[in-house]
Amino acid sequence: MKTVKDVDFNTKKVLVRVDFNVPLNDDLEVTDATRIEAARPTILNILESGGSCILLSHLGRPKNREDQFSLRHILNKATEIFGVQVKFAEDCIGGAAEEAVSNLKPGEILLLENLRYYKEETEGDRDFAKKLAKLGDYYVNDAFGTAHRAHASTAVIADFFPKNKCFGMLLASEIIHVEKVLKDGQPPVTAIIGGAKVSSKITVIENILDKIDHLIVGGGMAFTFIKATGGHIGSSLVEEDKQDTALDILAKAKEKNVQVHLPVDVIAGDSFSEFANTTTEPADNIPEGWLGLDSGPRTNEQFATVIAKSKTILWNGPVGVFEMEKFAEGTIKLGDAIAKATANGAFSLVGGGDSVAAVKQFSLSDKVSYVSTGGGAMLEMLEGKTLPGIQAILD
Ligand code: AMP
Repeated sequence: MKTVKDVDFNTKKVLVRVDFNVPLNDDLEVTDATRIEAARPTILNILESGGSCILLSHLGRPKNREDQFSLRHILNKATEIFGVQVKFAEDCIGGAAEEAVSNLKPGEILLLENLRYYKEETEGDRDFAKKLAKLGDYYVNDAFGTAHRAHASTAVIADFFPKNKCFGMLLASEIIHVEKVLKDGQPPVTAIIGGAKVSSKITVIENILDKIDHLIVGGGMAFTFIKATGGHIGSSLVEEDKQDTALDILAKAKEKNVQVHLPVDVIAGDSFSEFANTTTEPADNIPEGWLGLDSGPRTNEQFATVIAKSKTILWNGPVGVFEMEKFAEGTIKLGDAIAKATANGAFSLVGGGDSVAAVKQFSLSDKVSYVSTGGGAMLEMLEGKTLPGIQAILD
């Protein structure tokens, strides 16, 4: 895998696709700069090797060049993070971009205006990609968050750089860490799949069954499994039409010698609310009118025991409605168990879904081995798909 570390960028003008799709507040200030920080190693590497950076990104989903989606709003934050005054071009193609690029010197950074001001970006338009390509000598993709999209700047553009293209350090790092679980995972390998729905995770589960020893199923999706095997789940979340799929997954897991762990008890609420009355019930015998909203104490212990003996851990999706304090305990205990196993030498990857938010909320980011930066992209990697943004660099 060729990365920026393998290239001499001396005097080169390098087009770097980054993911600066960051949240802004009402005053149009950046409220979470994680994605800008994540691009720092790649950008500094190019500058230190004598090149200049032309940054390509999108921000939000503009329809008509609305100012609120202008990348100008992130200039100050980017300048602060990179320690170099970031220049700005009012457009990503055409005269304004070309002039700014021609003035760019080694060691400098230029940010181009929002790519999605052109619908051609998401359409993967070849002519648009060609216009972008014309601006630089080299193409680097470091935008993991959009690597699952075949857009002009994430995939099509790479065609114009048959030799002069490589991975940025963030993108490379995401690939290496997923492979550490899916290809080279040291056994026992445990996957924890939680979240709301079975339907959004079926392909992930099917793809990982060959690679894991334990499958922990938690969160709302567990109730489809529990109901399918004859349990009474009260008014808990269920996908009636996915019960056969759940049974099929259980049968395949047995065939492949994967031990499946479902919740044995739950914290149930009498409404989906922070103000609900709560009770602890067996997961397969929840009274009518009550909803299982978090894993119960016995479940938390059992999940922690499995995690403690795992050498490789993948965590995707919370095991309860962690956004509500009353139903956050299971997810907190699970995160703590993963942190403890990591401290004892296990490799842990958190990614693809709301577990990343949970890890941040409960300050566990530094206590797990790797937290993925791309929700949808990570989910597709776990599904075993080859992402267009990655394939375009490999071709
Ligand atoms: P995902 O994006 O698939 O990781 O799903 C995350 C969402 O699942 C979070 O917003 C949780 O609140 C929700 N969730 C977790 N457990 C439950 C549950 N028992 N019932 C309903 N929703 C849940």
